[in-house]
Amino acid sequence: MVRHSRERALSEREFERLLQGIERIDCDWYRLQTRFVVIVAGRLGMRAGEIAHMRSEWIDFRNGMIHVPEQDSCDKGEDGGPCGYCRSLAQSVVDHAVPSIHDARLELLEQGQLVDLGKAYQELLAAHQARADGHVSTEEFEDRIQDALALADHGGRDAWDAYEELESRARKYRQRRDVTLEEALDEYWIPKTDAAARKIPFDFEPRAEIVLEDFFDRVDRYPTSRTTVNRRVDDALEAADMKKEECSPHGLRATAASHHAGRGLDVVALQSMFGWVQLETAMKYIQSSGTNTQRALNAVHSR
Ligand SMILES: [Zn+2]
Repeated sequence: MVRHSRERALSEREFERLLQGIERIDCDWYRLQTRFVVIVAGRLGMRAGEIAHMRSEWIDFRNGMIHVPEQDSCDKGEDGGPCGYCRSLAQSVVDHAVPSIHDARLELLEQGQLVDLGKAYQELLAAHQARADGHVSTEEFEDRIQDALALADHGGRDAWDAYEELESRARKYRQRRDVTLEEALDEYWIPKTDAAARKIPFDFEPRAEIVLEDFFDRVDRYPTSRTTVNRRVDDALEAADMKKEECSPHGLRATAASHHAGRGLDVVALQSMFGWVQLETAMKYIQSSGTNTQRALNAVHSR
């Protein structure tokens, strides 16, 4: 039995089979939607969250380029507000925005506050760092703070007062970082990372050009939710007599990356097209591409 991973890249042959399967879908509009999702993910490498938020304004047909913006509005929720996908991302921003009081103190110490306490400052900083790394218990930590403050040179300002001031600054610091869900939601939709805002050329691939034209002739934007992107991929698999376990939107993105790495796209271009933060991710696709090695070997031996 062959094991499949939904995240794995399809071979060129499997991808062609998938495309052929789509043509067997009866309903004209579903066929077009499915073709759109599969080509945009499987050849242009776009993420499901991007596809679901795509609108015609993103497409520059004249220059053959899709602009994934840094920010766009989302009104795909049932109430005309942000969709469930955007809401859950906004919620995680809220959950991670506000540092603990301890982290806030550490942050301020690292910025150099209380540095005038000399040796005591060094010890306060070290104690906070050890606590952040989980090396000391609360009790030990409190002891270290008291010892550190006792170390302070009494010629200067009172160390306990200074520490109290740090505490109140830390509280203000947290308030400044406090983000309400409403505020976070105003930002959405935003792409997964900063690197994900990018330009994706599509005019190298006539099939992509045609499907983008056909799709955005019918609608101004991808009409349904993020989950329907998965459903369209499942429909394509079913129509092609392939199992659901064989692919997913992310598997299609990997398919696109392998395809372009295999054709010899260089590492920087690959990174920029896929919006990866790390160059290493692009390197992995290039290194695992047998075709790339084959081409290099052929080039060397045909001298
Ligand atoms: Zn959304």
